Amino acid sequence: MKDRIKALCRQRNAVILAHTYQSAEIQDIADYVGDSYGLSVKAREVTDAEVIIFCGVTFMAETASILNPGKIVLIPEPSAGCPMADTITAEQLREFKAKHPGAPVVCYVNSTAEVKAESDICCTSANALKVVASLGDVPEILFVPDRHLGRFVERRLGRKLICWDGCCPVHDRLPVQVVKDMKAKYPGHVLMVHPETPADIQDEAEHVLATGPMIELARKSSDGKYLVGTEDGIMHSLKCAAPKKDFVHLWGGLRCPEMKLTTMESVLRSLERMETRVQVPEEIAVKARRAIEAMLRVS
Ligand code: SF4
Repeated sequence: MKDRIKALCRQRNAVILAHTYQSAEIQDIADYVGDSYGLSVKAREVTDAEVIIFCGVTFMAETASILNPGKIVLIPEPSAGCPMADTITAEQLREFKAKHPGAPVVCYVNSTAEVKAESDICCTSANALKVVASLGDVPEILFVPDRHLGRFVERRLGRKLICWDGCCPVHDRLPVQVVKDMKAKYPGHVLMVHPETPADIQDEAEHVLATGPMIELARKSSDGKYLVGTEDGIMHSLKCAAPKKDFVHLWGGLRCPEMKLTTMESVLRSLERMETRVQVPEEIAVKARRAIEAMLRVS
């Protein structure tokens, strides 16, 4: 299967980009594995290939298409969505903005292209602090859709945000008692959690980090043992980055069913049939690109 995928990639002049929450076998066939920020940068940099096979969820493939409109972007599993992105529509965001006239909108990239198009600047969990800080001393800032990431930024920067009431159902349901029990069971392990987890979980952790910085920390730090509080796909990335270190996943419930829809079979089918193409209508893409490019300039 792997050989057939690689042969078809050569034939189609395609590259495979995969999110760190994808399964290990998908990460292993990818040309690049990264978090949302890394994937945004990479998608923009793809020059030689004509086709991008995007292994992740729909909003990520949309972002790749927006940033590199000259390429054919295919998503092997077009039904792979993000429940957090679906917590806000463009119409709801327009109403939210109308209640706070003049307030800039910071939009987490885990959102639809239509919502990005209504926003001033995007952010990822890796650069949210920088992005919000870049807005300077404005009286109000709207932050959509993840309230947990918004609260994390608020607490770190010491400034109030007006957050949309969305969240990632995978990270949101991590019970704090599980975290306490695991810390007691693994007292020598450093706990790192994702900022999409609730505040009481973040309070238990030594590090609150996006997935890319988690991997960087594991690679560079002198600590050898970690408890990992994010989606379980990252375990493979961590083990590849620091094979001699010990990583324990915090909880089996931290598994995103949408991310796990992509399989070797669906990647092969996508390459064989050249489907499913992701295309964002030009009038939406132009505005969404502005918000994403604004983020890339800051970070
Ligand atoms: S892990 Fe959460 S934020 Fe990421 S795709 Fe799944 S539901 Fe969306």
